[in-house]
Amino acid sequence: MSSPDRTRRRVVGALAGLPALALPHVLRARAAAPGGGVREIDISGYDTALLPREHGQLTRLTTRLRRRYPSREHCMQMAAFFNASRGLLVIAKDPRAGVADWDINPGSTLRIRFYGDVADVETLTIAPTVEAAAAGYRQWAAQQSWVTGRQRRSRPLSFLSVASLSSQALEQAQLRRVLAATAAPIGVWFTQWRRYPFDHMYPDYVAREPQQFARTLALLRAHRAIALPYVNGLLWDQALVPFQRDGAQVAVRSRSHDTVPYNADLGNLHYACPHSRLWQEHIAQARAALTDTDNQPAGGVYLDMLAAADPLICWSADHGHAPGDAYAWQQGIRSLLQRIGGAIMVEGNAEAYLDCVDYLLMHLHTDQADAVPLWKLVYGSQPFPVGWRLPAALNAEQMRAAVQRARDFGVNAGATPWMISEPESALFDRGVAQTAIAAARTGQ
Ligand SMILES: [Zn+2]
Repeated sequence: MSSPDRTRRRVVGALAGLPALALPHVLRARAAAPGGGVREIDISGYDTALLPREHGQLTRLTTRLRRRYPSREHCMQMAAFFNASRGLLVIAKDPRAGVADWDINPGSTLRIRFYGDVADVETLTIAPTVEAAAAGYRQWAAQQSWVTGRQRRSRPLSFLSVASLSSQALEQAQLRRVLAATAAPIGVWFTQWRRYPFDHMYPDYVAREPQQFARTLALLRAHRAIALPYVNGLLWDQALVPFQRDGAQVAVRSRSHDTVPYNADLGNLHYACPHSRLWQEHIAQARAALTDTDNQPAGGVYLDMLAAADPLICWSADHGHAPGDAYAWQQGIRSLLQRIGGAIMVEGNAEAYLDCVDYLLMHLHTDQADAVPLWKLVYGSQPFPVGWRLPAALNAEQMRAAVQRARDFGVNAGATPWMISEPESALFDRGVAQTAIAAARTGQ
């Protein structure tokens, strides 16, 4: 890995018309002011962007892009821009990881809007490579609290099994097959265990078959496997009558104090503010209720959306944060994660939570041709990236290629992307899953 050129150029400010010499003073003065601000960087000399989308994205600059930090779509406070001969690395150094929108206008500017402190934006001239950009960013990132404060002792998984079958009897039979084929420990991601269909009636986390589910959890504990049942960390359902009063209390509020729906298709689902103590209490209780037949807690939990979703600015005055606080979302998620016992797998990989979690589900964009292993070069394997998006009806050769590519990205424990593909049991029936397991074993 090459080191970045240490030639430093102070950022070109957004404060048009100001002489360059005035900028450092202006930057310091603005940094202390609340309420955010904007910085712009000239990127007109570059035709390619390296962006921190999940594992990383290397793309030609053709269309305008907007990404919100900290999220899966913009998980690190950086972007780099390349042409054939040189690169420009941009680092926005906010150690508190405030919400910021990164607008990329091809042939023109990178415009960063900070909702909290205006960060000390730094630009570096580097070689036009993923490695040089990663090395430059890592120098700052490795000193941040989400790296230096990490104390978790996460266990690497030899396999991440996706338990998505319709009954626990079927699940137990499938899990015995998985356990026989794999080395301990494996993780087991339960996606369909609740009494309600997926994306309905959150935060009701009662099992569809409570006794059978407890038996499944006991089976896993006996094999040192880590159960990771699905809990949505951010959404509640307006149709869940017993939760309606609490829902109104925990809901993210827009500036006009409306609740915020997840999207148009799932309009019953609304965002909770993770800073709300009441919301944290509900999620912590849902996790604590995951117990097996010996009343032992499940090995872990999967918290959907937490490190993936774009952070929202909440204007409620009832959640213990100031209305419009650009740090409330992140602080709330960190508090929530710190209340959760056992192993934690989260969706996405926003860097601000790395010290609080064990496994990062990073599979959304892995089938994209522009995906690059930037994340691995910056943060390595702690917490462990897991998951890989697989095409439907893939054969053993495609599976081998997918496993190899996943390994190149620092992912060791694969997982069937249950949203789009066939069930894992079908991959075992066809012998394809065993191929992945054998490949993972020989690589260890
Ligand atoms: Zn709030």
